[in-house]
Amino acid sequence: MFQKILIANRGEIALRVQRACRELGIPTVAVHSTADADAMHVRLADESVCIGPPPARESYLNAASILSAATITGADAIHPGYGFLSENADFAEMVEAHGLAFIGPSPAHIRMMGDKIEAKAAMAALGVPLVPGSDGAVSDLDAARRIAAAIGYPVLVKAAAGGGGRGMKVANDADEIEEAWRTARTEARAAFGNDAVYLEKYLDRPRHIELQVFADGRGQVVHFGERDCSLQRRHQKLVEEAGSPMLSAAERDALGARATSALAKLGYRNAGTLEFLYQDGQFAFIEMNTRLQVEHPVTEMVCGIDLVREQIRIAAGQELGYGQSDIRFSGHAIECRVTAEDPETFMPTPGRVTAFHPPGGLGVRVDSALYAGYRVPAHYDSLVAKLIVHAPTREQAIARLRRALAEFVVVGIKTTLPLHQRIVEDAGFQRGDYTIHWLERFVAGQ
Ligand code: ADP
Repeated sequence: MFQKILIANRGEIALRVQRACRELGIPTVAVHSTADADAMHVRLADESVCIGPPPARESYLNAASILSAATITGADAIHPGYGFLSENADFAEMVEAHGLAFIGPSPAHIRMMGDKIEAKAAMAALGVPLVPGSDGAVSDLDAARRIAAAIGYPVLVKAAAGGGGRGMKVANDADEIEEAWRTARTEARAAFGNDAVYLEKYLDRPRHIELQVFADGRGQVVHFGERDCSLQRRHQKLVEEAGSPMLSAAERDALGARATSALAKLGYRNAGTLEFLYQDGQFAFIEMNTRLQVEHPVTEMVCGIDLVREQIRIAAGQELGYGQSDIRFSGHAIECRVTAEDPETFMPTPGRVTAFHPPGGLGVRVDSALYAGYRVPAHYDSLVAKLIVHAPTREQAIARLRRALAEFVVVGIKTTLPLHQRIVEDAGFQRGDYTIHWLERFVAGQ
């Protein structure tokens, strides 16, 4: 097992990884920018190293600083969390070249899945169904017009290197394809330094259902069931559930069998998530994330497993030690992402938190790095807390969520807690009857 793990991240996810390390008896090293000197992940770590000024590219994205921090503290493994360098194959390679373990998949798999065009081709070759679309990148406008007409409008122009909902534009008809194609490329070039785009049929009422998979790289591949992440704004998830209110156990088993056999053939290792759109009883693959995800706690709650611990064990070369039939699903879990944003305008609201009272009680979990007196910096992602509830049924989970949201107090900055309170009261949400477009309309008051 590792002697010391450096956590190349901040906020709630750095704490989340620290907690798993502490339970495994492994000391941790926190890294932080100058803006985060007082952050909770620094206070709770065994050691900490300042890696640069506030802008992420000079600190949390600064591979050289992070590797130096690992070297001077004698860490033998790096956990990247999510975001920042977690899906950067070059970074994973550098970590390994320095003789350290990267707690994640192989650089080759990170690279393959980081290019969505390549990821779709790889999955198609392994028998996983795709959303209909262009066969590879679409590099000129004439081709975009021709392919869009063949797929049928509306179509979605997507960045091959896309993430976080950026570089994605809808064209409703032939008049809109030029604008969509150009803006998607411009946005992709600015955000990812890669303007390759492809086309997909824009589905009108899908659900986003993703499957958590785990492989030990020694032949054992299992899945921990699905998460329904259909409640999104601007293609970004806000509320996630495990399991999906739409899916039967038989459908889950069938999807799981197909996905695990594909990943076994690929020789995949560590955690991964296959994302699908689900419409009219059909699954269609859109992308794979080669890291831990923000919404992983809902899976942990229904499976009773610590996914970060499993990531660390596998990276240390241990076997999974159990098979699919040992994994049981119990009850229902829901997660709300609480962000430092105005709940109506979604403008970021950095600033000082003057009081913080997280909810508690049976089946309630709060993953957050907030504390009273903490100043939420303006430089980073606005996620400040994840509220996760778990109960025997979805109906009970909703009652628990309503109760927990009512207890949750954050004073000093505006958060999206009031929005979550409105969602939980909505009859459509309570019925579980929603698609990826539901929340956008709900927020717009339609
Ligand atoms: P990113 O990597 O930027 O998150 P994804 O490919 O995962 O991009 O897509 C994000 C979200 O955008 C999906 O969860 C879904 O809501 C929406 N989306 C993506 N592809 C399609 C599509 N073909 N039709 C309709 N919605 C889509």
